[in-house]
Amino acid sequence: MRVSSYNEYLLLNDSDEESYLIYNSLSNGFGEIHKGLYNALIQKDMDYLEHCAEKEQLLQGQFLYVGPIKELDQMEEQFKIVRHQNETLNLTILPTFSCNFRCSYCFENLTSKSGKRAFSQKIQNEILTYIEKSVEELHFKRIIVNWTGGEPLLEFKNITSLMERINFIANKNKISIDHFMVSNGYLLTSDRAKKLKELGVKRIQITIDGSKKATIKEEY
Ligand code: SF4
Repeated sequence: MRVSSYNEYLLLNDSDEESYLIYNSLSNGFGEIHKGLYNALIQKDMDYLEHCAEKEQLLQGQFLYVGPIKELDQMEEQFKIVRHQNETLNLTILPTFSCNFRCSYCFENLTSKSGKRAFSQKIQNEILTYIEKSVEELHFKRIIVNWTGGEPLLEFKNITSLMERINFIANKNKISIDHFMVSNGYLLTSDRAKKLKELGVKRIQITIDGSKKATIKEEY
């Protein structure tokens, strides 16, 4: 039995007893564990894990696994299935790394270099060329575009214009098109929401994490 290399842990600050969220990015397994179990997983204490009450659930979520699974092979296999299917062209577009917030945990790590990178017309044209070429060569039946960032609404004008052009390609080829977005929501007015809906945005995931004090870096 082994501990998965794909486990991620997050300390829950506000619980009475120290506990952790655990997530496995290979299986999508998710749960909450106590400190003793967390320590055993981190330290790969197989004696503890073999005999713990949670062993079955840990195996089910693939936080623990029994050989001969090779996790990297499994990951590559899953990647190939997604990469080589020709039902849906799935795109994730980051129009900007900039953000009007500064969440302390933000993985975007906004440096002056990445934060100022422009969503230029050249990049937008390259995205359109890629979509046109992919649709033509692989005969996709559906396009899904996930807009994220940074904060995508900082580039509202550019993203709506690019959405129109992507929709045009989809309509021309008679394939369905859906847009999804992840945003902190601060710049989402009702007019903007209406416009995005008209352009085919099916869902906007608004990230609400907690109070200003808990989530925004002091220096901001
Ligand atoms: S709102 Fe999102 S992109 Fe902006 S700082 Fe927070 S986590 Fe990062």
